[in-house]
Amino acid sequence: MYDQEPMIRVGLGFDSHRLVPGRKLLLGGVDVPSPFGEKAHSDGDVLLHALCDAIYGACGRGDIGEHFPDTDPRWKDKPSSHFLLEAGRLAKREGWRLVNVDATILLETPKLSPWKKTIAESIRRILAPVWELGESAVCIKAKTMERCDAVGRSEAIVAHVAVLLESGGS
Ligand SMILES: [Zn+2]
Repeated sequence: MYDQEPMIRVGLGFDSHRLVPGRKLLLGGVDVPSPFGEKAHSDGDVLLHALCDAIYGACGRGDIGEHFPDTDPRWKDKPSSHFLLEAGRLAKREGWRLVNVDATILLETPKLSPWKKTIAESIRRILAPVWELGESAVCIKAKTMERCDAVGRSEAIVAHVAVLLESGGS
């Protein structure tokens, strides 16, 4: 145990979903045009789910499945922005401020470069009731898997997210 609680905390989030025809491809609350989207109980927003896990992890409060079980009919097709806002509110209640979000999305197609800025802005907007985030505080990166594995065959999408929290409320 430290004499004093640490002033900063890192959090790491991961999520993946199958891609299927006839579903929206939602990333950070943005509906990205695509012939297929995430199969899920909720809206399947893989990036917001990984971001929620990163925030919960940094707070030492488990994962999104513990807070919003996918067996609960209340969360069926629920916008994932709701989950993110709740994760942010919990972190703020516990005295944390979000310093930055760094995310990588793994997706073979469509190309996400035209959407990265819009997705980052959307995340800042969703979290605005909790924290004012500057433009550089949310970074969205995207990579393909060079046609290898399930992501490379466009059967799946993956998101990795790191966050840093610092103590100090708002
Ligand atoms: Zn998910």
